[in-house]
Amino acid sequence: MDCIFCKIDKGEIPSEKVYEDDDVFVIRDIDPKAEKHYLMIPKRHYKLIDEMTDADAAALMRGLRKIPSLAGRLGLDGGYRLVINQGDDAGQSVFHLHVHILGGQPLDFPDLKK
Ligand code: 5GP
Ligand code: ZN
Repeated sequence: MDCIFCKIDKGEIPSEKVYEDDDVFVIRDIDPKAEKHYLMIPKRHYKLIDEMTDADAAALMRGLRKIPSLAGRLGLDGGYRLVINQGDDAGQSVFHLHVHILGGQPLDFPDLKK
């Protein structure tokens, strides 16, 4: 399958996993949009929330619930924001569902209508 994140998981594209368990792995975003920018990626390939099975949902939630225990090590002690881009309007560019973890600085929350 021609998927960047599946290739990273298999080690076919190099990227340091800063966290990994049976459900998810976490890497640094190659093009960070904040001082700290990670991606939490489910190990099972699916594109969209719409395609998630109940097992996928449980696996992702287990992953999200690990983040507080990783926050200190990842430089996210001050807080963080989770973002899941879905589809064209959101600018999703990699079609393997992933959660952006942004932090390491105060994050403004722009009014995107402007
Ligand atoms: P999306 O736009 O789909 O929500 O997010 C995809 C993210 O994956 C982008 O922030 C992009 O910088 C990141 N990305 C794309 N290719 C790679 C890669 O090869 N390695 C890493 N670490 N991040 C990547
Ligand atoms: Zn994939």
